[in-house]
Amino acid sequence: METGLRVCKKCLMRETAGQEELFVTLQRYIEDIDPGLRTPQGEYERRLQVCKECERLISGMCQACGCYVELRAATAAQICPYEHW
Ligand code: SF4
Repeated sequence: METGLRVCKKCLMRETAGQEELFVTLQRYIEDIDPGLRTPQGEYERRLQVCKECERLISGMCQACGCYVELRAATAAQICPYEHW
């Protein structure tokens, strides 16, 4: 059955076609994180690069924890469930 939903391994939400509306919602959550709790930008991008190389990333979601990695990585105190970051 064709669902119209594209599954993209190795893609973050910001790179997944057809998910723009969800990404905007995700961005709002990220922007609402207290600046004191937010991951510094350089570390944030490093985390996302690690996720992009991980076999557990599918269409921006971590199959280990069920989180959208762009949101999970945005809070400094969060960790990867497999301790990759
Ligand atoms: S949070 Fe960890 S386990 Fe999940 S996709 Fe990223 S690197 Fe992989």
